[in-house]
Amino acid sequence: MSMGTENPGGTGEQDGRSPAARPEAPRRVLVVGGVAGGMSAATRLRRLDETAEIIVVERSGHVSYANCGLPYFVGGVIEDEDDLLLQTPERLLERFRLDVRVDTEVIGIDAVAHVATVRSTLDGTEAELGYDKLILSPGAVPVRPAIPGFDRVRSLRTVEDASRLFDDVAAAPRSAVVIGAGFIGIETAENLRHAGIDVTVVEAADQVLTPLDSEMAVLVEAELLTHGVRIETGVAVTEVTGSAVVLADGRSIPGELVVGSIGVRPDTRLALMAGIDIAPSGGIAVTGSGQTSHPDIYAVGDAVEKVDSVGGGHSLVALANVANRQGRRAADHIAGLDRPPAPSIGSAIVKVFTCTAAMTGWNETRLRAAGRPYRCIHSHPMSHATYYPGAEQMSLKLIFDPLDGTILGAQAVGGAGVDKRIDVLATALSAGMHASALADLELAYAPPFSSAKDPVNMLGYMAENILSGECDVIEPDELAKLVDAGWTLVDVRTPSEHAAGSIPGSVNLPLETLREDLASLGSGPIAVYCQVGQRGHTATEYLHRIGREARNLDGGYRTWLAAEAVRRGDAGLLVRPAW
Ligand SMILES: Cc1cc2nc3c(=O)[nH]c(=O)nc-3n(C[C@H](O)[C@H](O)[C@H](O)COP(=O)(O)OP(=O)(O)OC[C@H]3O[C@@H](n4cnc5c(N)ncnc54)[C@H](O)[C@@H]3O)c2cc1C
Repeated sequence: MSMGTENPGGTGEQDGRSPAARPEAPRRVLVVGGVAGGMSAATRLRRLDETAEIIVVERSGHVSYANCGLPYFVGGVIEDEDDLLLQTPERLLERFRLDVRVDTEVIGIDAVAHVATVRSTLDGTEAELGYDKLILSPGAVPVRPAIPGFDRVRSLRTVEDASRLFDDVAAAPRSAVVIGAGFIGIETAENLRHAGIDVTVVEAADQVLTPLDSEMAVLVEAELLTHGVRIETGVAVTEVTGSAVVLADGRSIPGELVVGSIGVRPDTRLALMAGIDIAPSGGIAVTGSGQTSHPDIYAVGDAVEKVDSVGGGHSLVALANVANRQGRRAADHIAGLDRPPAPSIGSAIVKVFTCTAAMTGWNETRLRAAGRPYRCIHSHPMSHATYYPGAEQMSLKLIFDPLDGTILGAQAVGGAGVDKRIDVLATALSAGMHASALADLELAYAPPFSSAKDPVNMLGYMAENILSGECDVIEPDELAKLVDAGWTLVDVRTPSEHAAGSIPGSVNLPLETLREDLASLGSGPIAVYCQVGQRGHTATEYLHRIGREARNLDGGYRTWLAAEAVRRGDAGLLVRPAW
């Protein structure tokens, strides 16, 4: 069936002009995909160009919907589906004079003729739409592996997916399995648990949330366990049956409802049709302005490959902020504004019951794989001054270049204040700041919000100490080697802290009496630890002053215990109150 041909007002192939002879200001811009990247591009372009005809084509029944809010609709935190719909075609027409066509899919692109073929998803009618510039923002498609029974596994990508899942939850299944422990998998697990369902998360990797390093991710796993979510890591799903999932080790996990959240891959189907270049990573290859290998076709968002801020290489980053930013850049370029490219640093955050996990830049795993040298520091500060009620503890990790101190990445897991610290660290990373410069950041302080020495400043002090050679720290995985080499392991916490849990083989010499008790130790080197690393640092500095060889355990007992939980494959070690 045909809806006919629409050509951009008098321009294009039908009036016989070649693309090269088109006027500078585009007459018609066609945007494919009406959510994050696509809608940012369309609205930005309207702000820059009042005369362009801007058509947005969207396959689903909604535009500008909050896909990041979908898990919370499934769990009932967001009660009204309409709250997810940030805009309607009618409002976009009124406010921005955008011609938004929902339930319409682009099914073909002729890049030479500058024509897209569109089809109504409601009645199948087809039409051709000419364009001067085309912006592709089709997003990503969920990975759906060829596992027997996977066809009954739900995905969560669109409002329609969320509605289906919402109905599934309303049918009150007793058990659910979430396959994949990435951001969306974890958010989905939390929301299914809120709905009173027994939830198991199955993850083929050895840990949840692989953008975090293992000693940080295990804190998230402990939080999930605390809230009754079962976790199976390091094991793949081999089959989905009518009421369960079967694991590679033969076990069967009950799952009346199964949700797949294994990851996404760039949706490059339209790009392939248009004959534009796909990068080796699998994303559409674009310039910093979003221009593809065809100068009149732009691509943005999850579908494209990004330039990586840390390594300078390329990566696939499927995040809303990046898609929105890229949409704006593409519109700027079409309107003739040239902006410097903005590489991606991969800042991300997720709520996990009462805790927050966040990260920016590269993690240790990635740096190690790339063979890039780095140093790490861990701290466990409180969100604000402890004398003011409600302070919550967090775990911070900063990764930096050991030679020039450039910040390479940061991670944070904990309660209040995690979001603020990761954003400061992401800003510092984007600005190319050195780790020790964090010490001098003048951050806003009053007791309900922070400490006079903010946790970010404290990371700066620690990095400064290391980079200046004033002191060195021991990472938990180095400890056993040092003890084997004859180092004495000294716990400088109080006897009651030591009794509540300590590193095997350590001697308890509290900081307060260390000066007097030191004689009881031999003359060999000393590995010092305390609860979070601060008292240990003071003790180490004292030992250095009296001429002893000493190093402090990075992040103290808390970081060691997290590393130990990883080593033993038992996040339960961290489940309160033992933690
Ligand atoms: C459940 C969920 C939670 C998320 N949470 C977060 C979060 O908390 N933080 C974060 O940063 N990111 C989050 N994301 C990721 C974020 O939503 C994406 O990175 C972002 O939306 C990508 O924008 P985009 O424009 O590239 O693609 P999308 O926003 O996915 O939009 C693509 C649109 O294109 C349409 N389309 C595709 N092909 C065609 C075609 N041929 N014709 C017409 N239309 C087409 C699709 O229907 C879709 O609506 C989440 C994603 C999901 C699914």
